[in-house]
Amino acid sequence: MDTVQSLDHTICQADEAAHLLGVSPTQVAESLRDVRHLDQAGRAAYAADTALEALIDLAMTHRQDCGRRGCPTCTAIRRTLAANLASLRTLRLDAIERSADPTGVV
Ligand SMILES: [Zn+2]
Repeated sequence: MDTVQSLDHTICQADEAAHLLGVSPTQVAESLRDVRHLDQAGRAAYAADTALEALIDLAMTHRQDCGRRGCPTCTAIRRTLAANLASLRTLRLDAIERSADPTGVV
């Protein structure tokens, strides 16, 4: 699966979840205004930041209610947290390298 296919798959899943959870087109438009002016790295950081903040909120709430060994939700949270942390750390390193390189080429 290439990057576009992967993004399309994730967007499709997010669209379905947004519909089920009652996310309005206005909310999507407001978020689009937040990211429209950002460059590619800024957009990636925005997506990773907002997803990770939500994941942390959900994880901490779930942790208070869950004490089950082998809980599939806890397993999914750990897997997603690890992947998002790795992405954020990579984005941070890329941003540092870009700011240190006057040509902007990393
Ligand atoms: Zn759990």
